[in-house]
Amino acid sequence: MRSHGGPEGLAPSPKREPLALRVTDLKQYAYCKRIVFYQYVLPVERRPTYKMERGKIAQEEIQRLEGRRKLKRYGLEAGVRKFDLWLHSEILGLSGKLDMLIETGSECFPVDFKWTRGGVHRNHLFQLGGYSLLVEEWFGKPVNTGFVYLLIQGDAVPYTITAELKEACKATLREIRSMIREERFPDPPRERAKCVECEYQNYCRDIW
Ligand code: SF4
Repeated sequence: MRSHGGPEGLAPSPKREPLALRVTDLKQYAYCKRIVFYQYVLPVERRPTYKMERGKIAQEEIQRLEGRRKLKRYGLEAGVRKFDLWLHSEILGLSGKLDMLIETGSECFPVDFKWTRGGVHRNHLFQLGGYSLLVEEWFGKPVNTGFVYLLIQGDAVPYTITAELKEACKATLREIRSMIREERFPDPPRERAKCVECEYQNYCRDIW
C-alpha cells in the first residue's frame, strides 16, 4: 500500500517537537520583539532588576494573605486557590509558572501578580492568554476570565479571555519560532519610551 507520509521511496521524517517557549516570552514579545531575540538567539547576561526583586517580595506577602481572604474580590463565591503552579503543554511547546489559579467546579481563573504603577498593558494580556491556554489543557476546564493583580494598588483587575486572544497567542508562538529559526533581528518598538528603562539597552546601539 502506498504511504501518504512523504515522497515515494523516502521514509517519513520524524515529527519535530515545537521549540520550547515560555509564557513570559509572549509578554516580552508583545512589549518588544528584540527582548525575545536576545534571549534565544543571542543569549545575553540578564541581571535581576529592582522591580523584579521588589515584585517578588510583595508577591510572597500577598500569597500569604490570600489564603485568609474571601474570593469575593474576584466576584466568586467559592473555589480553590493554588499558588505557583508549573504548567506545561507538549502540544503547544509552552510552559510557565502561574502565580495563582482559582479553580471552581466548572471554570478556572488564572491570576497574574504584577508590580507596576502603570496599569495593565497589552503585553500583560498576552501573558494571561498564554496561561489560559495551558490551564485549559491541564485542567480540562474553560478559562473565560483572568485577573491581573496589581501589587502596588492591591487591586485584582478582571479581563475577559476571548477566543481571539487565545488564537493571537498561538499565532505569536509561531511568529516567535520563525524569528528564532531564521535568526531575524526585529525592529525596535515604535514607542521609544520603552527603551528608557530596558535592561537590554546596551545591546541596542542603533536606537540611541
Ligand atoms: S532597548 Fe528598546 S529596542 Fe532594545 S530591547 Fe529594550 S525595548 Fe527593545
